[in-house]
Amino acid sequence: MLAKDTYNIATDVTFPPFVYANDKNEYVGIDIDLMNEIAKEEGFKVNIKPIGFNAALQSVTSGQVDGMIAGMTITDERKQKFDFSSPYYSSGIVMAVSPKSNIDSLKDLRGKKVAVKTGTSGADYANSIKDKYGFKVVTFDDSDNMYNDVENHNSDACFEDDAVMNYGIKTGLDLKVVTKPVNNANYGFAVKKGENQELLHKFNKGLAKLKANGKYQQIIDKYTGAKATSRKLAAQKNNHTILGIIKENKGAILTGVIETIKLTVVSIIFATIFGIVIGLLGVIPNKISQAISVFVIYVFRGLPLLVLALFIYNGIPSLTGTKIPAFVAGVITLALNEGAYIAAFVKGGIEAVDKGQMEAARSLGLPFSKSMIKIILPQGMKIMIPSFINQFIITLKDTSILSIIGILELTQTGKIIIARNLEGFRMWAIVAVIYLALITILTLLSKWIERRIKA
Ligand code: GLN
Repeated sequence: MLAKDTYNIATDVTFPPFVYANDKNEYVGIDIDLMNEIAKEEGFKVNIKPIGFNAALQSVTSGQVDGMIAGMTITDERKQKFDFSSPYYSSGIVMAVSPKSNIDSLKDLRGKKVAVKTGTSGADYANSIKDKYGFKVVTFDDSDNMYNDVENHNSDACFEDDAVMNYGIKTGLDLKVVTKPVNNANYGFAVKKGENQELLHKFNKGLAKLKANGKYQQIIDKYTGAKATSRKLAAQKNNHTILGIIKENKGAILTGVIETIKLTVVSIIFATIFGIVIGLLGVIPNKISQAISVFVIYVFRGLPLLVLALFIYNGIPSLTGTKIPAFVAGVITLALNEGAYIAAFVKGGIEAVDKGQMEAARSLGLPFSKSMIKIILPQGMKIMIPSFINQFIITLKDTSILSIIGILELTQTGKIIIARNLEGFRMWAIVAVIYLALITILTLLSKWIERRIKA
């Protein structure tokens, strides 16, 4: 395969000090700095995709990205699916609880709830001992939500890599570590097994150079040395009022809002076209087209949006080997799902027009298509307009689900900012208000169009 000069690298930006977004919303941390320095040494470029740990695992195995660096533990099981670089760090797994908790060993977990993060070695560890110690496991997609669940006393404990847990506690998490690290293992950069070997090779070469010239140690010290916790001081200095948070993150929030709007508009256009076509197929007097319409509505209305998004983004590429950009996968997902709902009410709307209208038109000698376009559709449209407006609002809201495939829309942006400032309540409140504002604008716009159509 030809050597490329830009690689897409997936990561998990809720994993400081390995990966996180700094207060300028740039991705930093041991993993990111190593990756950037290695890319510089070896003369290639990287495009960092902040999609979360579990999504990153899947994106590498489906070939959607070229590699991942995310504090990923090298395990024998993973070696079946991934090729790993030489190790660049080592960490074990610890248990953390609320400082007020009296749980201080695994034995105290009987009957308790333990939070873990999907797809991680911490989760595997918890699952391997849960029967022995008699606890229940609850899973979260990123570390912050997992910590939060323990801080809020919904869960009694969590399992996390010790380097990450200790760093988090030093920089402001309200948790304490109560066990010694177990299952110590190395972190590695990973590519899909058998693929992107030239990238792996460059990574190893670059890493060896950084270890030899001292840069590797500088990076490690920068994030784990005594000064690293200045993140806490910096965080305390920052203005954590709602206005302060908005001011500090306005660039990132604005980009997220624009992405949400783009996704919504493009998806609404495609969903409307798709929905009208499928809806019309359902009303023309032809058994096959009616069957197609019923089937399409059944499938895409029936599938949960999340499953559809993951199927299109991760499932299809692992079968076909072609990459689908996240934005395109997101639009296809929404167009199919929202389109199926639109098709259903388009069909219903047309059927709601008095049958006599069609008979009258036909008896005047108008062909079916003309009667449909000239007589039936205009009346049906009026019935459908409120449903369209409703569906557009749902489409806007549903874009948030696409954060799962790593699209940096408003919800994903919120997650990444919280990973840094730990201001879950205020940040989600800001995100919620922005969604409501967007929905209000969309509703007003739809109502305005409705008035113009009806006039
Ligand atoms: N080191 C852990 C693993 O590989 C966790 C990684 C992470 O959460 N980013 O599973």
